[in-house]
Amino acid sequence: MKIPLLQDKLEYYFKWFHQHPEPSNQEFETTKRIREILREEGIEIVETAPGAELKTGLVARIQGKAGTPVVALRCDIDALPINEESGLPYSSLNHGFMHACGHDFHTTSLLGAALLLNEERETLNGTVKLLFQPAEEGGDGALQVIESHILDDVSEIYGIHVAAGHENGLIGISPGATHAAVGIFSISIKGKGSHGAAPHYARDPIVAAAQLINTAQVIVSRNTDPFDQAVVSFTHIKAGSTWNVIPEEAWLEGTLRAFSDEKLSWLAERLRECCNATEKAMGLRIDLNYRVCTVATNNDPELSEFAAETARSLGLTVVASQRAMGGEDFALYQKIIPGVFWTIGINSPQGVHHPGFIADMSRLAAASSLFTALAQRSLARLSKKK
Ligand SMILES: [Zn+2]
Ligand SMILES: [Zn+2]
Repeated sequence: MKIPLLQDKLEYYFKWFHQHPEPSNQEFETTKRIREILREEGIEIVETAPGAELKTGLVARIQGKAGTPVVALRCDIDALPINEESGLPYSSLNHGFMHACGHDFHTTSLLGAALLLNEERETLNGTVKLLFQPAEEGGDGALQVIESHILDDVSEIYGIHVAAGHENGLIGISPGATHAAVGIFSISIKGKGSHGAAPHYARDPIVAAAQLINTAQVIVSRNTDPFDQAVVSFTHIKAGSTWNVIPEEAWLEGTLRAFSDEKLSWLAERLRECCNATEKAMGLRIDLNYRVCTVATNNDPELSEFAAETARSLGLTVVASQRAMGGEDFALYQKIIPGVFWTIGINSPQGVHHPGFIADMSRLAAASSLFTALAQRSLARLSKKK
């Protein structure tokens, strides 16, 4: 298919996806639409094993001359609970929801790759699995896909994200971590309540919470190498109900971020030490609840070089990725399959997750071409090794 023709087709698809955003694990209409387009184009959809079905999202398969090797191309399809204020003529029709992270761009560009690869299937040296992943936004999408075993035969994986601050069409690729490892914590403080005028009878959980929040600030400001990025953020606090009663309890939650899984667990360890020390100092009980939300992305160095070279071979300009403290569950695939998470500039007036975010759609076909070339060239290389 000629690129201008493909671009027209993709803009038409993109506007529909942009107008119909659905939150994590609720992408029913989105999945239906993807399925419909793939069916129209005669592209096979992979059925998952009974008991491991994906409720939303799907995997398409394009088989070339041989069944193996297999490479995967991944996009995410979910949207955010944000009221759109972009002013676009094709703004969201699902009130309260918006494609503010560019997942509509990702979905459309992967559909474009499906069309291109399907046209050239005879020349493919193996199989391409095209993964339309649900629930990336703090959901469990990647985990659902891994547990469905649909990627068990995949040797390499490539994923896309839009880069809001990069010029249109600029490709971002960097080895190592580009998106942070994310931890989520909640802390419950159990003290002793009292009259607000009799603090000596209390074990005040509010003072303990304040102390703990202050102490935890040193984890980044005093304990972390200034060249090693980390974040400790308290984002939610609840305690008390009126002005003259010291409450029994306080409750806090927040997030930890780092660019390696080791650093993230070190942050959690330090937070636990701060909790224990405050507990002792204040004479009350502090319980920390902590879990890892996602690990850090980890672009394989050799494959990053390969991906950059592939992009240049298409005449695209490659720069270093914009590193983000946001999490990305593509990282979970990279724990088991070597891969590269690359970005494409969309020149948005606002960053991702903002109601004024706009993904310029003029480079959709370019993104599809890069996805396509990555699959073709990676299969050619892998099949030689066989
Ligand atoms: Zn997002
Ligand atoms: Zn995203």
